[in-house]
Amino acid sequence: MICWCGRQSRGFGWHNYADAFDKKYYWFCSKSHLNIWKKKNNMIDPTKNEVEAMIFAGQMAGEYMQEINKTDLATFTKDEWLTLLKVIYGNTTQKIAEIETRK
Ligand SMILES: [Zn+2]
Repeated sequence: MICWCGRQSRGFGWHNYADAFDKKYYWFCSKSHLNIWKKKNNMIDPTKNEVEAMIFAGQMAGEYMQEINKTDLATFTKDEWLTLLKVIYGNTTQKIAEIETRK
């Protein structure tokens, strides 16, 4: 694997584990080049709580899709799509608040 600078990577890999659809792994020659790349690409690792909240919201989105008996986003009406977004956004933010107040 080659770092963005052209040098051989030395085991510094990064993967956006919060995005289940992004299977790509990025490799770097050094920790500093990993950090530069992340800063440049504006990819900030989600916190443990944010990941937990997103997983919860994903489960709620799955329940909503089961409820309307649709899994193909292309067949969603505008209202179904907006409701799905509300389910994901609402549950993520609500769960983060719940986790944060648990402490
Ligand atoms: Zn490099």
